[in-house]
Amino acid sequence: MNRLLKNKECNSLLGGLSADYRFFAPVRRAGRGRLSDTDLITYDQISSVEEIVWDEKTLRSAKEIMFPITETLMRFDQKTISQPSVVDNRGIVIFCRSCDIHAVSRLDKIFLDNGTSPDPYYERLREKIHFVLMECADPFKSCFCVSMKTNIPEKFIAAVREVDGGLKVLSQRRTLVDKLSTIGSECEFELHYPKQNGTEVFPPQTLDMPSELYDHEMWDEYSGRCIACGRCNTSCPTCSCFSVHDVMYDKDSGQAGERRRVWAGCHIDGFTDMAGGMEFRKSSGARMRFKTFHKIYDYRKRFGENMCVGCGRCDDICPEYISFSNCINKVSEQPGTQGESL
Ligand code: SF4
Ligand code: SF4
Repeated sequence: MNRLLKNKECNSLLGGLSADYRFFAPVRRAGRGRLSDTDLITYDQISSVEEIVWDEKTLRSAKEIMFPITETLMRFDQKTISQPSVVDNRGIVIFCRSCDIHAVSRLDKIFLDNGTSPDPYYERLREKIHFVLMECADPFKSCFCVSMKTNIPEKFIAAVREVDGGLKVLSQRRTLVDKLSTIGSECEFELHYPKQNGTEVFPPQTLDMPSELYDHEMWDEYSGRCIACGRCNTSCPTCSCFSVHDVMYDKDSGQAGERRRVWAGCHIDGFTDMAGGMEFRKSSGARMRFKTFHKIYDYRKRFGENMCVGCGRCDDICPEYISFSNCINKVSEQPGTQGESL
């Protein structure tokens, strides 16, 4: 069903559903950008469709909705251990683009399918989530979703296109169709997808990366330039690493506290510290190699698709202007990196 809804009608639909659902979308936070007088475009809760930013990419992804930056796993004292419950039990609807829907499917594989049992903290938030696709026909400059095969979305309850003063909405979901049939008017709406990249990227195809590449001099450049800030990790919608910290409420008595998991990243100092003072991947070049192979090789060997979805956020956010897309192309130029196709 295709309907044309005025903003007012969209907002009354959101308002009517707000007892059961929270809505998240790209929004503008004035003055909170990384430079003075710049705005931050990020995901946050909305109550009206006018808050949605359509023409700029978010610097951070929607992953923190189902994988919070810091999350209490349990609280403990000398006698008890308890697991915090989810504070808000409403469903969660996220307005996002195709690459970000694909990114959540990458996280699903890591948190739900990659071990002996699903991660219960991720699972309890993830099962609440539904996606509304924001049509994204033209790529931003740093995007390469076509190369990563994430330009065509999967698993969304509705798709929307911004039009003057309203939204075109497409949905096949029975419950949503029933609601939509009573508001707005019928319209033509054929979804468009990006057909070309903003930045051309040629990911490697091999399932057996040449061993010479592990010590290749190309990684030395990153040792000189990367400052290990970790911005590329935190902005990436598919980075899923975390560390676990115990926080004591009273340091002196040490009798009660909580265990938290907190985002971590492979570029950051200390990420590979081991007991006994061991540290793997000391240089930034070695960390870049690790991340690159994880995003475009190891994960693909395990799950049959690249972990990187080509959103380009890491290129947008790096203060040292390190280009991950360029790094992928450098890998692909090396002998033996093509071979079998995906
Ligand atoms: S382009 Fe960069 S930020 Fe986006 S998914 Fe790939 S590695 Fe992550
Ligand atoms: S954002 Fe750039 S400088 Fe910061 S860790 Fe990533 S590659 Fe290094």
